[in-house]
Amino acid sequence: MVLVKRVVLNSRPGKDGAPEPGNFRVEETTLEPDLEDGEVLVRTLYLSVDPYMRCRMNEDTGADYLTPWQLGERVDGGGVGVVESSRCGALSVGAVVTFLNWPWQTHAVLTGTALRKVDPQLVDGHLSHFLGALGMTGLSAFFGVREEGHVTKGAKQTMVVSGAAGACGSMAGQIGRLDGCLGVVGICGSEEKCRTLLEDLGFSAAINYRTEDVPARLKACCPDGVDVYFDNVGGAISDAVISQMNPGGHVILCGQISQYNKDVPYPPPLSQEIQEVLRGRNITRERFVVLRYTDRLDEALCELSRWLRSGQIKVLETVINGIEKMGDAFCSMMEGGNVGKQIVKISECSSL
Ligand code: NDP
Repeated sequence: MVLVKRVVLNSRPGKDGAPEPGNFRVEETTLEPDLEDGEVLVRTLYLSVDPYMRCRMNEDTGADYLTPWQLGERVDGGGVGVVESSRCGALSVGAVVTFLNWPWQTHAVLTGTALRKVDPQLVDGHLSHFLGALGMTGLSAFFGVREEGHVTKGAKQTMVVSGAAGACGSMAGQIGRLDGCLGVVGICGSEEKCRTLLEDLGFSAAINYRTEDVPARLKACCPDGVDVYFDNVGGAISDAVISQMNPGGHVILCGQISQYNKDVPYPPPLSQEIQEVLRGRNITRERFVVLRYTDRLDEALCELSRWLRSGQIKVLETVINGIEKMGDAFCSMMEGGNVGKQIVKISECSSL
């Protein structure tokens, strides 16, 4: 018998409510470690908290590819862990595995074939990066920029990134720079984050949307207009950026976090005026979903790993310890408490 802690959904924030740590509850339970054929017992190392989870807290997620979490039931999301016992031929004890639907639980019995075995060398042993730089957010940045951004070396393009100091944004800006944008301007919510963008991540300019006049600062930072916009936030910030985009520009519609606590469909509707800007200037803005690119995972992981290990990309993380802190970590991330990827460390991986 294995003693485990798990996190269940305690209450829903309501369609127009901000989430609170009290929406989650930690319970203790036991796990029968007897495995059926094909199963593995895993110990959880790191769990991810992500903006899309806000939709899973509603009774209706509003997105066809997301199922709602059920009240009183254990919740799940991206996770990485280590196999402690196995009846799955492909996964031996000690293998490091990831899963998009990892139970928020300290140990779990999972079906081996659902898990993806990963090579710790790709991240120089920093296994939490499989949830960030080489996980869903890094892959979103990579495929978003590569597939929707139309960045061309030598074309002197200016890229703007909103949510720029977060998990997707911090990677997207660096990839835009590496792929050849002349300037990369980040928009984020604090002075500390602005400094990080400029001093650590190689952004050419940074705008604090909480204290600065975003349209005026965009004009100053992008004198030749905006060619590529990596949009993580939506709302007024995105309206300001789109208004300053050049004809033939491209919006990478990654996410719209500023609207996630509101009862609106995804993607939230744009004003007539902004729709007119998009149409009149022939700006592309297609819905982007990283899960469409699972068949090209190896190509992306290889390139991201090369950048990471050569130091061409810097990876930022904010780590909180303990499964009891899942709710706090999620709510903090939703309010901007994170720099880079928000991670929750569940157990030590030093013995690996
Ligand atoms: P982040 O690490 O960027 O964390 C969320 C950040 O959003 C916060 O740190 C905060 O930073 C910012 N934020 C919160 N509220 C607002 C607001 N009202 N206005 C502006 N900024 C706000 O999260 P991720 O990188 O995981 O996700 C970023 C976006 O990408 C989300 O919209 C998410 O849904 C989307 N996404 C989409 C995927 C896809 O396949 N399309 C896959 C993964 C993510 P600050 O201090 O700057 O306010």
